[in-house]
Amino acid sequence: MLRSLADVVLTRDAKQRIRLAHSGLASALMVVAVVLMHVMTWLGVNDGTGLWAWTAVSAIGLVSMFITIRLGWSARLRDPSLTVLQLMYAVGCTAVAYRIAGAGHGTPLLMVALVLMFGTFGLRRAQAWLVGSYTIAAFGIAMYTGAVDRPDIYDPVVQAAYFVSLILFVCGLMAVSGRVAAMRQRLRVQKSELAEALDRISLLATRDELTGLLNRRAMTELLERERQRSQRSAQGWSVAIMDVDHFKQTNDVHGHAAGDEALRKVARVCESLVRDCDAVSRWGGEEFVLLFRDVDAPAALAAADRVRASVAGVALTSGNAAFNITVSIGVTAYRRGDTVAQTLSRADGALYQAKLAGRNRVETSRASALDSA
Ligand code: GH3
Ligand code: MG
Ligand code: MG
Repeated sequence: MLRSLADVVLTRDAKQRIRLAHSGLASALMVVAVVLMHVMTWLGVNDGTGLWAWTAVSAIGLVSMFITIRLGWSARLRDPSLTVLQLMYAVGCTAVAYRIAGAGHGTPLLMVALVLMFGTFGLRRAQAWLVGSYTIAAFGIAMYTGAVDRPDIYDPVVQAAYFVSLILFVCGLMAVSGRVAAMRQRLRVQKSELAEALDRISLLATRDELTGLLNRRAMTELLERERQRSQRSAQGWSVAIMDVDHFKQTNDVHGHAAGDEALRKVARVCESLVRDCDAVSRWGGEEFVLLFRDVDAPAALAAADRVRASVAGVALTSGNAAFNITVSIGVTAYRRGDTVAQTLSRADGALYQAKLAGRNRVETSRASALDSA
């Protein structure tokens, strides 16, 4: 019941709720001030001149600002919370209260201190100074007119002392809120730096440095997740282990740098040929593991053979020498009940068969094979 009432008054939009709650808090403060003013008049502290007009203007202003926020009319403004406007309105009302409070004018002075303390912390520097200067001006006028019209109650010397104290208070508050703003800015910067560092760390933890492909750890996790997914659904998947043929020789003849470049090219070929839902990883050295989702052994075999043929067609250079590399691939489909390690071991067996059968070939753990010829 209370919750649904809160939903109606404050809406369900979290940002809007905060805005309205702040506005409501300011109104509550205003209600306290209004009650105090009326009690003081009732007890004869002042003659109550202008009290009801002041009460009406204060209430209408704050309620209409609450409604403006509630109905979303302020949503397109730069400051949808109307913070500065609400603050200035509250300060203005308090300054008038100071002037009509007579002997009780100490109360509005403390009230405005409270308003400023709550209100200025969320503001930007320029906004805070605007509200601060406006407060000094509004109370300056109230104090001056009080001292001129009713020097018996608003003793000019006391008013001057209050005025100086108010200026000191506003300056002190600005200094504190400036420090808080600087701290918040520092926190924001640190937070974004931390997020960046976290992104970098997770990139380093999951990517292979040379090729930019997923690393062995990330692929192992992916395969395990795929295994668990296929336990729940009927979808199967296949895996391929690919090894560059005679890579030691490539390194020996063309140099390690050319070998590295060849591995990068192999990585790009794989990435360009597999579907978005598939995954490619550098398993280690010159070995790669590919995951084909929702694919049975014959389809995986065909996909792996496209990779094999493309790698063989890549023209590599080292100095003036042009060369090619080939890969052998072992493919297997996941079998229900198997572990990832068992599946990989079967693919590895197929890779061994491909090497034995002459390299530049794709073999599956079943009897089928695609020849390079
Ligand atoms: P096979 O056809 O039987 O696979 O022969 P191979 O020479 O490819 O196999 P072997 O395991 O004997 O050699 C693998 C070579 O791969 C040896 C190693 O120097 C090279 N290698 C491993 N990692 C890298 C790397 O990051 N960069 C370069 N350039 N070479 C690498
Ligand atoms: Mg190897
Ligand atoms: Mg090799």
